[in-house]
Amino acid sequence: MDLETKALLLSVGTVQLAKPCRSGRPSTAGPGAGGQSVFFQSGPHMARLSVAESSPLRLEQSAEGAVIMMDGREIARGRLAEPLLHCPEQAYITISERCVFDCKFCAVPKLQGGIKSRQTVLQMVEETARTGHLRAISLTSGVEVSPLHEADRVARIVKDLKRFGVPVGVSISPFPGVNQILKEAGADEVKYNLECVDPELFTQVCPGISFQEIMDALQEAVGVFGKNRVFTNIIVGLGESDDLLRRSIDELTERGIIPVLRAVYSHPLRTGEVQMERPSAERLLELARYLKKALEKNGLDGAAALTGCYRCTGCDLTPGRDL
Ligand code: SF4
Repeated sequence: MDLETKALLLSVGTVQLAKPCRSGRPSTAGPGAGGQSVFFQSGPHMARLSVAESSPLRLEQSAEGAVIMMDGREIARGRLAEPLLHCPEQAYITISERCVFDCKFCAVPKLQGGIKSRQTVLQMVEETARTGHLRAISLTSGVEVSPLHEADRVARIVKDLKRFGVPVGVSISPFPGVNQILKEAGADEVKYNLECVDPELFTQVCPGISFQEIMDALQEAVGVFGKNRVFTNIIVGLGESDDLLRRSIDELTERGIIPVLRAVYSHPLRTGEVQMERPSAERLLELARYLKKALEKNGLDGAAALTGCYRCTGCDLTPGRDL
């Protein structure tokens, strides 16, 4: 498939399955937590689609591979990529599947799931390493008690995981001092999510969280982890303007921070809580092209990412990989 077709798939974000497939398994990570998804690979592009019976996209599989249909016609032909843990080639693990915060787009606080022990995480990664396909480890976590408590827990796990000899990325809720803790533990990359770049919307969407504290941690992280090692998720579709998104892309990339532009996923557990409108294919393409130029202008390279979403590419039009 070409870039425009991937943009179309991401703008829909869901797919119905003609028959159940082995690849579709529940994810415990982030806004889409609890749902089943598939990774559709076609040529140089891969798209992660959530499984939904009502989707206008339909996945059909045969001995030759997989086809995505829309309105009765084929729009892409490829194959399903097998995730290791959550996504292909990575052990992407959510440590604490619960959260004391209540970001309005995220299913994790609603699910109030379990906490994985160091032993459990170690076993999970060992199993993936045995496949011979493990290229990176990405850890994320809700906040069970406090951001500091969570960082200490994750840092101990990062130390354990260094033995696998692959890069380790961490995405947690930041606070003053977080970078030193994660650097000392051996993390290679960090992601602290700003989520919403509109300050007014931010207070509604992420109540009780300080936008400035996230920005400060990101800025400090660039000095600690270096170029192309610091990321932040920005959700597209919460009611923010493109003008503000472009200005935020400029500001972040000028500071050495790489934004991940993520189409909002309206989780069924969050229906009606805030505006969540999946961006059109054209909007996704226009913003991705703008981001690509901004990264280049500031000497940043999405292809240099070792872990996480820039390494995976399933959910976004990823500069340096898709375009
Ligand atoms: S792009 Fe990120 S969130 Fe999406 S499947 Fe890949 S690792 Fe998971």
